[in-house]
Amino acid sequence: MQLSPSPAWKEPIRGGVNRGEEYLNSRSVGLYVHVPFCSGKCFYCDFVSVPVQAASHGPRRRHAHASSARVRNAGRGQGRHARRYLEALEAEMRLRPSCQPRTLYIGGGTPSELEAGELAGLLAAVRRSYATDGIVEATCEANPESLTADKLSALRRGGVARLSLGLQTTENRLLRRIGRRHDFACFLEAYRAARGAGFEVSVDLMFGLPGQTVAGLRGSIDAVLALEPGHLSLYGLDVHDSTLFGERGVRHDEDLGREMFEISIERLAREGYHHYEISNFALPGRESIHNQIYWRNEEYVGLGCAAASYINGERSTNVDRLQDYCDAALSGRRPVAYAETLRGRERLGEGVMLGLRLLDGFEPEPEALAAFAPEIAALAAKGLLRREGPRLRLTREGVFLANVVASEFVPPFEHPSAETVSFKEAIA
Ligand code: SF4
Repeated sequence: MQLSPSPAWKEPIRGGVNRGEEYLNSRSVGLYVHVPFCSGKCFYCDFVSVPVQAASHGPRRRHAHASSARVRNAGRGQGRHARRYLEALEAEMRLRPSCQPRTLYIGGGTPSELEAGELAGLLAAVRRSYATDGIVEATCEANPESLTADKLSALRRGGVARLSLGLQTTENRLLRRIGRRHDFACFLEAYRAARGAGFEVSVDLMFGLPGQTVAGLRGSIDAVLALEPGHLSLYGLDVHDSTLFGERGVRHDEDLGREMFEISIERLAREGYHHYEISNFALPGRESIHNQIYWRNEEYVGLGCAAASYINGERSTNVDRLQDYCDAALSGRRPVAYAETLRGRERLGEGVMLGLRLLDGFEPEPEALAAFAPEIAALAAKGLLRREGPRLRLTREGVFLANVVASEFVPPFEHPSAETVSFKEAIA
């Protein structure tokens, strides 16, 4: 779909367009802005997010009761908490060294919980703080229950042309069971409004949910494919101890999860979706540029509580508590909780771990091939990854065991003396 030019940036931002290998192979800086507010806490969620009740009434709560909050929350925003947070974000922008973003990604949390005026203000702050002429993709995450026409308009006017919309499943009984606060009809309304306003939309789906069947998952995928989104993200349920599901002892069936993942991959491939990253599928040319910055181990700046950055070899993470973040940034202190510069084997391993998430493979640094020669050989012998000239990629079986493969490239290492393998041996 040809999108109308956006007045906000120098060039029209057309999510999923203007991308091509030439750009994707070049060095990019991604700008990520975290908006932590949510209308409740999904039962599987371990992201840093603050339910409405917690933001409005004091101490942070891990979980909030699911409710049909669409009407109550749509357009309400988080009041003075949002205003203070947005001020803190702009303060953090001023505290940071300047950079030239190639992509902008507003994630959360649920950015669409902000009021339309707050979204417009956030985008204006980005423009005041950065040279935005080079931005080729601008994305905002949204949930159906809080996406309204005035917010779509504010985002579009502010230069955002790509939305990542959380659905998870089309089955209303499952949506209630996982603590979502929308139903499928609400999603459809939001999706159609977004497409009607000229956005490219990526849809999030999940498999392995409690009570989900293979037939139910097929039904969800079919219903989403009928809407012809350019991009789909598909995540398997992973139960973390810190979530409500974790506390309740919810378990997921690994065999069923694998079957569901396989069925989904095959179905989406038949419809022409490129499985370009373990959890991401796109019609040709609609791959997310911003997310590929992470997997290509390129540089990015993260703003907001709990946001991560990777600049000049240093990885850093901001404090995750909303109040601590605001207090630090507004008093002129960088709100960083943790920073480290990865070196040697750790740095090389992280690059391999990230690059292997790209299903077309990647070209590791020669030093990485040398440092991890025993692991690479062992994984190849097990049929989990493949060398194709200078490139490494997961096999089909490796995709299903991606966590097992990744664990070989992060500390603690089983072969700490692998540097002794010569470069010549490693690339033989
Ligand atoms: S909407 Fe997203 S960030 Fe918010 S609680 Fe649910 S999964 Fe977590």
